[in-house]
Amino acid sequence: MAKSTVNHILKSIDQHRVIELLREMVAIPSVNPFDEPTSDQTRELEIANYYEQRMQDIGMLTSRRDVVDGRPNIFGRIKGNGKGPCIMLAGHLDTVGVIGYDAPFDPVIRKQRVYGRGSCDMKAGLASFLEIATVILQEEIELEGDLIIAGIADEEHQMIGSQEIRKNGPIPDFAIVGEPTELEVSRAHKGQLCMHIRTYGKACHSSIPEQGVNAIQHMSKVLEAFSDYNSELRARPQHSTFGHSSFSPGVIKGGDIVSSVPDSCELEVDRRLISGETVDQVVSEYRKRIDPLMSQLPDFHYEISEPTLHGEPLDTPEDSAIVEKITEAYQHTTQRTSALPVFTGSTDAPNLLSPAVICGPGSVEQAHTLNEYVEIDQVTKAAEIYLRTVLSMQSSGG
Ligand SMILES: [Zn+2]
Repeated sequence: MAKSTVNHILKSIDQHRVIELLREMVAIPSVNPFDEPTSDQTRELEIANYYEQRMQDIGMLTSRRDVVDGRPNIFGRIKGNGKGPCIMLAGHLDTVGVIGYDAPFDPVIRKQRVYGRGSCDMKAGLASFLEIATVILQEEIELEGDLIIAGIADEEHQMIGSQEIRKNGPIPDFAIVGEPTELEVSRAHKGQLCMHIRTYGKACHSSIPEQGVNAIQHMSKVLEAFSDYNSELRARPQHSTFGHSSFSPGVIKGGDIVSSVPDSCELEVDRRLISGETVDQVVSEYRKRIDPLMSQLPDFHYEISEPTLHGEPLDTPEDSAIVEKITEAYQHTTQRTSALPVFTGSTDAPNLLSPAVICGPGSVEQAHTLNEYVEIDQVTKAAEIYLRTVLSMQSSGG
């Protein structure tokens, strides 16, 4: 496609339209319910319906599948002529919680930024996706491959939305996940494995602790057993892309009342994975550290749960077409060179089973904070990067 044609098409990106869409989405609370019952803030279904409606309004073909009751994945498609690759633009519909957040669903604009929960992570990405679909349809651009927008449930908790796509499709040839990277192109991130370690004791009145077995005290020994685990992980040979794997105990729960010796304690642990590390391998590393306690402490009992989250690492080859084309688009749009940083979190991308990149507006530093925002300029620039990428991969002569 001629440069002048591309520039003409890029001029159709409408900042006002994309920002209004973003504000409307921020105003619909779609907090992930996590393990809690649903509330008036956990309206994932409502944002899914809204996003699907907007895709229909611009003329996309839509479909949906419930991941679990009332929590669907939403798909919009622009059909290509079958000569080129299918590209998926993927983003999650849920957000993290809002405890302590003052006015999280009031999408005010200040200092050329849109504020509110989900503004950056990642309704801005979703808004930019819809903007480029709008431009493609309005300008009647013929695509060589299908363009799919996926609005995905439950990224912030167990990623059951993208796991459903992994099982039932659609599996694209390439994917772009619009998580906040400040527009940088990232082709890799570590995997994530979360599980519970539980210790069991024997309850009794706290005035006669010698007659019970204190599960919290036993858990303290478990924590001690992991105290040098990160040093051990860092001492292993470094992966050329990811560096080292890591471990972090994140949540601990035990006991009901202070006047009782607790009979159970639960520790939730987070292990970041580099390529090649398996669940079995990590569990056996955990057991190697905990098992000696069974001979050291009388009545020590523990168990390790099944994974509550297992996201694989993403390691898209640097010479993959999607990496090359979106990197060029980034350079054209920002006049900078992407350093291809490793994304710090984990994402839905590995579940899409295709070469994928992470690239989106907003900074991961604002995501999940109590003062979330996205720069308006980055939202339109994201749309420009996505559109340039799609045109160069899916439009004749591109
Ligand atoms: Zn996110």
